[in-house]
Amino acid sequence: MAGTLFIISAPSGSGKSTLVSQLRTLVEGLDFSISYTTRAPRGSEEDGREYHFTTRAEFERMIAAGDFLEWAEVFGNYYGTAFSALAHAKKAGKDLLLDIDVQGAAQVMKKLSEAVSIFVMPPSPQILEMRLRHRTVAEEAASKAAVPEAVIQQRLAEARHELKQMQNYKYALVNDVLEQAVTELRAIVLCERGVRDGVQAVASSCRTDAPSPKLKAALATFER
Ligand code: ADP
Ligand code: 5GP
Repeated sequence: MAGTLFIISAPSGSGKSTLVSQLRTLVEGLDFSISYTTRAPRGSEEDGREYHFTTRAEFERMIAAGDFLEWAEVFGNYYGTAFSALAHAKKAGKDLLLDIDVQGAAQVMKKLSEAVSIFVMPPSPQILEMRLRHRTVAEEAASKAAVPEAVIQQRLAEARHELKQMQNYKYALVNDVLEQAVTELRAIVLCERGVRDGVQAVASSCRTDAPSPKLKAALATFER
């Protein structure tokens, strides 16, 4: 593809959606890939805006037809990136951001080694749990149904599993203070575009091959 492909992954509740929506207001020329999913729309989500909502039968037909760059089953639902999202960004001459889970990211990294991968870390398991519970209140208000405690516990357990993949990403940032995490994310995107002034040092501080004290400290909280 003409532009750069960015992959962003994070354990559920880390604040990735919040970060991505802020990034999109700050950086031009970045398309957001709209994934296909078999999960039901939440809250104000619209078909064709947040996701292409589809049935399991249609998703399985697309798998068989080879329509996906990558796909995975996440929390019991299918999610996938169609090749058409890449074609669309290429035609528009834009970079493309894929917000996908660790399984899908591994598939893309294998197929497209030039893709730039970014992992978003929660600062600690305690803060992750607080954010998950906070977001759950919003989910419950939107769906008018209680999110079972087991779902929160499953998301926390899954987070520990996903963190083990962080080392496979080129960059990792800790979403502690939101403004700082947004600054880091923007710096990574601009640095990968070849901008140096004012962003190179910030982007370098997020490299996983030379983990910063902040990243090491966040990781250590999950080892306790
Ligand atoms: P994800 O997309 O990773 O599942 P969200 O973006 O939905 O996570 O964020 C989960 C919750 O955490 C939301 O209530 C959001 O407002 C909050 N949040 C996100 N980033 C921060 C931050 N840096 N500090 C405090 N709260 C945050
Ligand atoms: P949510 O249902 O909360 O929107 O997303 C759940 C998880 O699915 C998130 O980790 C998100 O990054 C991931 N996801 C969203 N779209 C895709 C996709 O196209 N492929 C893969 N592999 N994961 C996705």
